[in-house]
Amino acid sequence: MTRYVGRFAPSPSGPLHFGSLVAALGSYFQAKANHGDWLVRIEDLDPPREMPGATEAILEALRAYQLHWDGEVVYQSERHHLYQAQIDAWLANGDAYYCQCTRKQIKQHGGYYPGTCRDKGLQEGAIRLKMTKPITHFLDQKHGSMTISAALVNEDFIIKRRDGLFAYNLAVVLDDIAQGVTEVVRGADLIEPTGRQISLYQILEQPEVSYLHLPLAMDNNGNKLSKQNHATAIDIQNPKPALLHAMMFLGFDIPESIKSSNLSDILRWGCDNWRIEQLPLEIEITP
Ligand code: GLU
Repeated sequence: MTRYVGRFAPSPSGPLHFGSLVAALGSYFQAKANHGDWLVRIEDLDPPREMPGATEAILEALRAYQLHWDGEVVYQSERHHLYQAQIDAWLANGDAYYCQCTRKQIKQHGGYYPGTCRDKGLQEGAIRLKMTKPITHFLDQKHGSMTISAALVNEDFIIKRRDGLFAYNLAVVLDDIAQGVTEVVRGADLIEPTGRQISLYQILEQPEVSYLHLPLAMDNNGNKLSKQNHATAIDIQNPKPALLHAMMFLGFDIPESIKSSNLSDILRWGCDNWRIEQLPLEIEITP
């Protein structure tokens, strides 16, 4: 059997907050309960959205919570040549093409891109991949069969933006393949792009991975806790309360004797008692 490889892949747009701690813990427990590796990859693909110092703050928080990763941290900012090489290969064989449609034009077309520039032979603009492997459904380990929004299924999606930034979907799949990831565990906000990511595995003729989407922590106004919404950073001086809180959010019923233990015993108990079935069914919940 192949060894389980999981990962936590934060974007350094801010320090670790409760929502990202949930994603870190869920992927950690699932990897360790499967006797696998847990990798950390910093998704620093989009410099304008990054916060100076966030990468260090995230790694420091993981250390403070004793979430020890396997191997070296991988940085997407150091992997541009790999993404570009794949794009060049697709451009050369006609699988990808340049597109100059504006957001406004796409909006006028009902919000989805109908393939306008496919055969125009343009030499600059955003780069799109021809959708030859549309995905309508995928299996989530918790939620079962998930349906991909019909408008997204057939779209030739962007793999490199007009401003030169590589698209998240491309980088995440190329990296997960290169790192030998066997299962992707992350927040339910990423259910939607999963169809495109599976299309990429098929286009690249790579074995697919399995998926587990975790419940999303929402604030009292019903907004996802996110760095963009300035969610508060988790306490790294006194990690235990947030750790226990995040574990309860993931459905653990923690005995009092464990609550009074130290961090490493709590985490070990978590690995031993992790069950996908105990995760809440709702995709979005207030912690
Ligand atoms: N970098 C993404 C984020 O922080 C997560 C990507 C993934 O887990 O696939 O939202």
